[in-house]
Amino acid sequence: MQQDMVLCGARVVDPVNGIDEIREIGIRDGRFAALESLKSPRRVDLRGLVLAPGFIDLHVHLREPGQTHKEDIGSATRAAAAGGFTTVLAMPNTAPPIDTAERVQAVRQAAAERGVVHVLQAGALTLGRAGKELAGYASMQAAGVPALTDDGSTPQDSAVMRAAMQAAAALGLPIVDHCEDIGLSKPGVMHAGATAALLQLPGQPRSAEEAIVTRDIALARETGCRVHLQHLSTAGAVQELRAARQEGLPVSGEVAPHHLFLTDAAAAVYGVNAKMAPPLREESDRQALLAGVLDGTIACIATDHAPHTAAEKAAGWLEAPFGIVGLEAAVPLCLTGLYHTGFLSLSRLVSLFTQGPRELLGLPVGAMTIGAVADVTVLDLDAPHRLKVAEFASRSHNCPYDGWACRGKVVGVLVQGKWTGAAGYGL
Ligand SMILES: [Zn+2]
Repeated sequence: MQQDMVLCGARVVDPVNGIDEIREIGIRDGRFAALESLKSPRRVDLRGLVLAPGFIDLHVHLREPGQTHKEDIGSATRAAAAGGFTTVLAMPNTAPPIDTAERVQAVRQAAAERGVVHVLQAGALTLGRAGKELAGYASMQAAGVPALTDDGSTPQDSAVMRAAMQAAAALGLPIVDHCEDIGLSKPGVMHAGATAALLQLPGQPRSAEEAIVTRDIALARETGCRVHLQHLSTAGAVQELRAARQEGLPVSGEVAPHHLFLTDAAAAVYGVNAKMAPPLREESDRQALLAGVLDGTIACIATDHAPHTAAEKAAGWLEAPFGIVGLEAAVPLCLTGLYHTGFLSLSRLVSLFTQGPRELLGLPVGAMTIGAVADVTVLDLDAPHRLKVAEFASRSHNCPYDGWACRGKVVGVLVQGKWTGAAGYGL
């Protein structure tokens, strides 16, 4: 058993409990504990730092099993911890896909042995992610799956998606969906706009995303299924989500940092490290996404951490896989671009990484409630630094942000009261 501990002097920001003040946090046996219950605790002086509930990333590709040349559970969770995340939701589009209870168990076992943060595993919607037959939801739920998705794609047959939503709703399982109509998106490799024309690359129209957003909202209305729209990228999608939420439908959405901070013009600057799905869009879309975050339409920021090797990304625009690593850049980018600009309060920003994901999945983490597992993200709000992709803990370094100047960084995390992070803080 660890010695009891009191974290002293830091500003504590916990949106779920309505806390934003300097106060002491007690930890006993890996859980938040009332100060008066502690026995001769060790006092740790964290003056000048911010403590938040451990951040939750709803969209991470661990690449295990089957693609461990890109990433594995050890490297991905070390990247998560370095980036300030104490819980990740792993996407099931591995090789093979996670579409049975046995495969869920295998990931959970590996995460228990080699993971340094909590790993939640999403289950596939359809067997083999082939979009035809539903996977066994009840058995995967019993194995610990908190959500279902075919991320990387979505069932193209809307009748399959309706059946999936009916089955998921009956179990109270949310569906988190990658909104892409491949009849409209293929063979596009970036947003269908001026930059695609300039680079003479095939584009993906906004309708490829919006057609599925519209479908999913209609099916959520019909089935009552809890639906979460992943990595939104277009102004139209944000508007549809806003209207659906105003209607009271059980629909939510997330945005990735790259869609908040980059546009399709980045393709001409960063090459294939600006190739992702859905693609970077135009400034008007970026502004609409920011507005969606500001007014609460979008309640979660998720990284869509998608590791690929340098060799894979070197295949060029047409052949290279979609995606960038995001775990170690997201929080510094958001502190710099959303908080220090005055766009969001610190509490609102923390909420996007804690309260939003917690409420979507009904998780017991994401708040510093007495008795809860003591997951804490420790931030130095003002530290100036540059992102150094070569120093990322992730096995892959496909990322456009190398050298970006940031203000504010992650000092480390406590996972169940155990410190992973920079030395010298007495933790
Ligand atoms: Zn996706």
